[in-house]
Amino acid sequence: MIGIYVHIPFCESKCVYCAFASFVKDESFQSDYFEFLNKEIRTCKFEDRQVSSIYFGGGTPSCVKPEKIVEVLTTIKNNFKVSENAEITIECNPCSTSLEKLEAYHSAGFNRISFGVQSLDSKMLKFLGRRHDKAQALDAIKKAKAAGFENISADLLLGLPKERVLKDAKCLMRQGVKHISAYMLQLEEGTKLKSLVEGGEVELPSEDKVVKTYQKLCKLLQKNGFAQYEISNFAQNGFKSQHNYAYWTGRAYLGFGLGAHSFDGAFVRWANADNFEDYFLGKQNKECLSPAQRDEEIVMLGLRCDAGFDKTKLSFDIEKVPAFKQLLANNILIQKGNKVFLNPTYYNISNSVIIKLLP
Ligand code: SF4
Repeated sequence: MIGIYVHIPFCESKCVYCAFASFVKDESFQSDYFEFLNKEIRTCKFEDRQVSSIYFGGGTPSCVKPEKIVEVLTTIKNNFKVSENAEITIECNPCSTSLEKLEAYHSAGFNRISFGVQSLDSKMLKFLGRRHDKAQALDAIKKAKAAGFENISADLLLGLPKERVLKDAKCLMRQGVKHISAYMLQLEEGTKLKSLVEGGEVELPSEDKVVKTYQKLCKLLQKNGFAQYEISNFAQNGFKSQHNYAYWTGRAYLGFGLGAHSFDGAFVRWANADNFEDYFLGKQNKECLSPAQRDEEIVMLGLRCDAGFDKTKLSFDIEKVPAFKQLLANNILIQKGNKVFLNPTYYNISNSVIIKLLP
């Protein structure tokens, strides 16, 4: 079973903190892109054709014509064996989401929607360069439900100036979202936000303050029935993202579109070029992971989520790593058979735990 990721690299404008492969392009350019994307899917020769999850991300998939999105999904269905109960997600921006579009996605087979809400403070959204406000975000969730979506996720940003993520999370839960992803704001190279912060025009909360807010958020969500199943992801029972698990548990996945990454489930990764010129020439970067690199991934991905990792999959004997027994004794790590898990209380120190475990 594999997961499929489709990258839609178009947005209506660029947000101040964004370092993703996303561009503002006209319709004729978009048409060329979709033509190439469909061809890339049709000509893919990967052996495993059984698909358990599909994820359309970006960029902003909802800012292009829904027919284009539906066509790509149809191409995937015609060229792979998509399971009947496959999770099929589309990322949407509240400002580019009409009821008609949502209905078109739903009838094409999308069964999960992920809204880039980020904040419910309209002024903050404007500062971030987002094109929606609070009312549009809440309206989009309402329309998604009206279009037939039950599995609705919302992204929130932690670490914004004037933090109010707890209030926003409460509001989103009242709207009936089933899944919340809370990501730390990152100051990425080359973004407008980084120059504003470096120039002293914007002040971000201290790391300590952000960690405290994160811990409060974890408690709040858990109290309301949202299990934390990964550092940044929380879901009600039955609504964990299956596609994310494909990444975290080392299953094979295929990425189509600009800059999209693929993994064969063993040792080979490859990525499409992240500029249009090279992407249209079919250029890719391929990387063969060494056993030590693969070990690092297995431990890192497994300990970031509730899937854990299977210690027999490692190329070294973790029992011989001095810190391993100590971490078990301190209840920071939990062992069940061959599986090793990080105690969720310690998700925020996962990086230091991972470093201690690797030889
Ligand atoms: S909507 Fe998302 S991908 Fe597009 S510019 Fe903003 S942060 Fe980047």
